[in-house]
Amino acid sequence: MPRIQQLPHSVITKIAAGEVIERPASVLKELLENSVDAGSTRIDIDVDAGGTEMIRVVDNGCGIASDDLPLAFASHATSKLQNADDLFRIGTLGFRGEALASIGGVGQVTLQSRPADRPCGAEITCHGGDLSPVKAWNGAPGTRIEVRHLFYNTPVRRKFLRTISTEMGHVCEAFTRLALARPGLYLTLRHNGKHVYEVPASASLRDRLGLFFGAEVRDQLYPIEAEHGAVALRGFIADPACERGNAKMQYLFVNGRWIRDRSLGHAIQEAYRGLLMTGRYAVAFLFLELPPDHVDVNVHPTKAEVRFRDGHAMYGLVFGSVRQRLSAENLTAKLKVTSTLDAPQPPPSPSDSLWLQPPVAPASTPLPPPPVITTPGNGPIASPSLPPPPAPASLASAFEQPAAAPPIPPLSLPGVVPVNAIQLHNAYLVLETAEGMLVIDQHALHERILFEQLKRRIGTGTLEVQQLLIPETVELSAEQAARTLEHRDALVDLGLGVEPFGGNTLLLTSYPAILGNRPPQTVLKAVVDYLGSKERPPTREHLFNDLLSLMACHSAVRAGDPLTPDEIASLVAQRQLANDTHHCPHGRPTALLFSRQDLDRQFRRV
Ligand code: ADP
Ligand code: MG
Repeated sequence: MPRIQQLPHSVITKIAAGEVIERPASVLKELLENSVDAGSTRIDIDVDAGGTEMIRVVDNGCGIASDDLPLAFASHATSKLQNADDLFRIGTLGFRGEALASIGGVGQVTLQSRPADRPCGAEITCHGGDLSPVKAWNGAPGTRIEVRHLFYNTPVRRKFLRTISTEMGHVCEAFTRLALARPGLYLTLRHNGKHVYEVPASASLRDRLGLFFGAEVRDQLYPIEAEHGAVALRGFIADPACERGNAKMQYLFVNGRWIRDRSLGHAIQEAYRGLLMTGRYAVAFLFLELPPDHVDVNVHPTKAEVRFRDGHAMYGLVFGSVRQRLSAENLTAKLKVTSTLDAPQPPPSPSDSLWLQPPVAPASTPLPPPPVITTPGNGPIASPSLPPPPAPASLASAFEQPAAAPPIPPLSLPGVVPVNAIQLHNAYLVLETAEGMLVIDQHALHERILFEQLKRRIGTGTLEVQQLLIPETVELSAEQAARTLEHRDALVDLGLGVEPFGGNTLLLTSYPAILGNRPPQTVLKAVVDYLGSKERPPTREHLFNDLLSLMACHSAVRAGDPLTPDEIASLVAQRQLANDTHHCPHGRPTALLFSRQDLDRQFRRV
């Protein structure tokens, strides 16, 4: 029987180091946090070989008294906490007193420090946990820490290190996070003696973003500022055109500390919903300030995650403010002119501004629901103030007419002013606007319009549902049938009535009339495919949005469909009425603006 024994101190620190110190960048992160906690206004960093050989941090902070030097390397020794209550009102980046002990356990550390009011400083070394005696050191006020040969005594960990350039990438990331978290701080970084970054104290947050991520990002940022109770949110969000293939460019800071947070990341993505293609990610730099007792920072070994007292409110604040900020911008995709001249942005016109509603605090619908008159056996006829979606006659022939489908809704739209628009390649509409020349993707725009109409009608309970006189049978696999029935309630809300009909057969009893003359079976099959493609059951909200966009996509005119002048006019007129016509529900732009200025410049008129 194996006996229980207390582990030796050297093993304990290596275990602790395993959690906190993964690579050179983790050492740098901890050292930087200590320098910030010491009130430094300038920090100079030198690393060799991506930090695998040497990491040196020199600060001008408060320093450490010579008597305290050995204590700095003791585990659970800190100057930042007095008692357990302090844990719930942490105002410093560090508080566990573990970092230096861990680093000293797996590296060769020289710590030199001098408080400003002392005539002389002191020095101590810690090699793999072994402390040297303290001796005098004659240096400038502040602290200088040098860590050499990280993991020299843990060869397995050393083997886990990646290439120098990968490690240097992580070092730069740690540097970036701090530089963004602390505007006002003077920071320099050198690699193998060569200058990498110099961030002057005067560099604003936007300057810093430009320095780290380039002018492309810097010039597409919208400032954001909001408050909710004791919580303040500020920072920048980027234009959807700035999107990325992953979420790495979503930076979140809580009380000056960089953190990861799945829920808030989700809030950002949700706020950009409809403006980004699936699988694309927004760029955002958000800073939350809240009373220290509203957030628990003691939940993660490297303090990279926190727990909010009211996570729900934080989600709402981030989602709501980002969404609102986006809605204030004219997001019609602008033509990227290949000229070196910077095209001035056209001012947003009121009719082009987005109307978006956060689900947290539903605002009133921007447009009154259209009065809908139904004639028996006939499709819905909307009032002239909100024309029905055009179901062009040319489409009627494209689709097989289902048994009990309503006739095509009327296309003549009284009150629609003829527009100067032409159709090109049976796919694009080109028209003149006050700002320049607008090129519309007919499918994307129609899809967006139908999406908004469906959503609004469902929201206001005015969705027209067409009952099938003779329900249609739909054959599915057993799994598909079960999945579809699982979501029956949601489907009914969308006007799709499904009933079990024995075996794997379902009965389709009704469909939303807005689909026009599209065979409802096809839409149901697309819905079934969609449900089958989900690994986990989607949330109700997601399901709803996805199904709406699916139905809109299936019912919209296609690229390749010729449109009559009336149909073109009706589509363009509805563009003004829909909520967010700038992007289709999949996030593709619905229109590109070639601004008057761009045209003039390109033709060298100005
Ligand atoms: P923590 O930061 O959690 O307190 P550390 O192990 O990182 O624990 O540091 C231990 C202590 O050493 C700190 O509490 C602080 O008093 C002191 N210290 C470390 N680095 C510095 C520094 N750069 N300037 C001043 N004091 C420092
Ligand atoms: Mg620390």
